[in-house]
Amino acid sequence: MRFDIKCMLLIAVSLCLYTPSVFAQHTVSRVEGSNRYEVAVNTAKRGWQEAPAVVLVGGDAYADALSAVPYAYQQGAPVLLTNAGSLSGAVKTGLQQLKTKRVTILGGTASISEKVVKQLKALNLSVSRIQGKNRYELAANVAKHMKSASAAVVVNGSAYADAVAIAPYAAKQGYPILLTDAKGLREETANLLKNKAVKRTIVIGGEASINKTAFQKLPSPVRISGANRYEVAAQIAKTYPMKTSQTFMSHGYAYADAAAAASIAAKQGQTLLLTDAQTVPDAIRKVIGAKQMSAFSVVGGTSTIQSNVITQLKNAVLGETIFIDPGHGAQDAGAVGNGLLEKNINLEVALKLRSRLHQAGALIVMSRTSDTFDSLQTRVSKGAQASADIFISIHANANDNSGANGTETYYDTTYAAAHSVKLAQQVQPRMVSALGTKDRGVKTAGFYVIKYSRMPSILLETGFVTSPIDASILKSTAAKDRLASGIATGVSNYFDVK
Ligand SMILES: [Zn+2]
Repeated sequence: MRFDIKCMLLIAVSLCLYTPSVFAQHTVSRVEGSNRYEVAVNTAKRGWQEAPAVVLVGGDAYADALSAVPYAYQQGAPVLLTNAGSLSGAVKTGLQQLKTKRVTILGGTASISEKVVKQLKALNLSVSRIQGKNRYELAANVAKHMKSASAAVVVNGSAYADAVAIAPYAAKQGYPILLTDAKGLREETANLLKNKAVKRTIVIGGEASINKTAFQKLPSPVRISGANRYEVAAQIAKTYPMKTSQTFMSHGYAYADAAAAASIAAKQGQTLLLTDAQTVPDAIRKVIGAKQMSAFSVVGGTSTIQSNVITQLKNAVLGETIFIDPGHGAQDAGAVGNGLLEKNINLEVALKLRSRLHQAGALIVMSRTSDTFDSLQTRVSKGAQASADIFISIHANANDNSGANGTETYYDTTYAAAHSVKLAQQVQPRMVSALGTKDRGVKTAGFYVIKYSRMPSILLETGFVTSPIDASILKSTAAKDRLASGIATGVSNYFDVK
């Protein structure tokens, strides 16, 4: 801001220190294993002390694994996977540990061979098999073994990943998961729906997966779709809510792990969401933020879900929408001094902050991302439109006296003052230590953007471009990197303690 000091001295008030007392960091646990078979066994052991009944599917029979979840739920059974040719070692040990007595195999001998059956019988287990001549018939046959239900889930048999997130809900409701293909409604599925007198169907996937003709043939269909599987999963979580006290997360492309995750999520009545290997997708962040989820169980090893995802899940900023407003722009240069234009510093810091906060798990909306200009009113309304959780306006300072220097954070008392001051108290000391500037403290002032933004909002004065000391710091890319990291840490901590 230009000419800030004079008017601000009149209204600036020093505030007592806010001391964070309660830390409410997200909690995250992980169920892993050296391969998909072990992941499924370890997941089952997490949910079942003993499992007299187990449902076993082939390790590569992903579509079968999905249909297995509601059936297994009715049997009180976890879903385990095995190699087709030979019983996987992890499963053999797992069956013994779970004191299993009965195993139901889903799929033909191509997905689980007769050799596996022999191996199971050698363990004194009673073994039965449900099969079909293809995945569509298998899903229908599995449904025949379930209690009748008023509704069913229908999904494309080759795009079943879209439906993973609904499996816990379907299981809980007793809805079978049936398959069809892109060409139309499969006969196997149509017959089952008729024979079981199913009255409603939940269709997962867009028209490319289940076309209009197939859709119209279904009883009272409702369609859930999205641009990708993460959007679909988020949509499912919103439309068919499950508990969120311990949300399960599995990899969007590791179907085997997802079946195990769906199986335990169903048992515990919890939401299942999908993630990328390296980062929590934005659509998933949104639903996490909207539902205020803070405890997660990740199903999958470090090769499928990397440690960065765990770090994001632990961060209380995950799913929060942060509005970043780089002050000034275009014809409005803001403060000028020592060869610096404030608008450029503001934008540089804002872009660095955006990348760090997004990396941390937040959703970011900015008033500008290049050298453009918005009125103060527009900035405020953009923040409101974004339903931002917090508003951060980034500025640099100026003064006629080149001796004036240092970093300060402003908030306004009109709206959300209690939270704004907490946010300011988290950010201010981290800016100072990142830049090594003089600490001018946290102050109040009725600057337009923080006065009229209704969410917790702060305005940062990073340093004085008119001060030779501050200007040399603000010219340094390394200093601006540290500054952005410091602000991001302050923001994360704010969500931890708020
Ligand atoms: Zn400014």
